[in-house]
Amino acid sequence: MTGRRGRGRPPLFTPEVRERYLAAVAAGATLKEATADLGLTKNLASQHAAHDPEFAAALRDARAVGRRARLDRAGHDESRYTNHRCRCPKCTRAASTARMARKARAEEERDSRLDLTAVDSPQSPTSFSLLVSSSSRTPAAA
Ligand SMILES: [Zn+2]
Repeated sequence: MTGRRGRGRPPLFTPEVRERYLAAVAAGATLKEATADLGLTKNLASQHAAHDPEFAAALRDARAVGRRARLDRAGHDESRYTNHRCRCPKCTRAASTARMARKARAEEERDSRLDLTAVDSPQSPTSFSLLVSSSSRTPAAA
């Protein structure tokens, strides 16, 4: 790191900047976004965190708050139901809709496999493509 003015550190991470940084992170900004918004170099905050346990703890808290903030903005859907165990009506409905869609797809696939068997094709589409790709990887085998 070579400062443009030769010596002395620019007043980058003043208490005020630090507060704004933590506030941005707590509001859901990624660390990269938060530093960029304040015109800071990307790893400045992590450097400070490494030397300042108090700031590190504050940053940890801010990140936890920020994760929740991002989650709230992300809305309620199946992944929230699955990954965050949200059981609100919206997530529950999204999860059951997705479950039914998967079930319907699985049944469709099973039906089409049955059709293939009916027309006397011993290989399912999956094993057939595996067969093709593995034999093309070993051309000398034959
Ligand atoms: Zn929900």
